[in-house]
Amino acid sequence: MTAPAASKTLFEKIIDREIPGDIVFEDDHCVAFRDINPGAPVHILLVPRKPIARLCDATADDQALLGHMMLVASQIAEQEGYGDAYRLVVNNGAAAGQSVFHLHLHIIAGRPLKWPPG
Ligand code: 5GP
Repeated sequence: MTAPAASKTLFEKIIDREIPGDIVFEDDHCVAFRDINPGAPVHILLVPRKPIARLCDATADDQALLGHMMLVASQIAEQEGYGDAYRLVVNNGAAAGQSVFHLHLHIIAGRPLKWPPG
């Protein structure tokens, strides 16, 4: 008997076009779409196709993927007109604000960004 397939994450469903998403970029490794509840004029989520739950679940095998995502995030910020002023955020774990357990980079831009964040 085979084990039942694990259920898809919300972001896998967006990637697979099972639920709508405003997709702004995709390649073989990752997909980016606008956050449904944006915290800034530009608020995009960059998600690996591989459903890594949290950044702390990534392994050495994911090194190239994670590096690729950083470069893609920079490219997306440039595409959005904020190549020299953007913030990348990864919330790792519920206590750090993670609510969707499929690794994602928040790409935030288009307003003054204070430091430290809340
Ligand atoms: P987290 O809190 O896990 O770091 O970020 C999850 C993000 O996903 C939140 O900013 C939230 O607004 C966004 N989000 C939740 N549900 C949806 C959805 O159905 N579609 C899109 N595009 N974003 C979503």
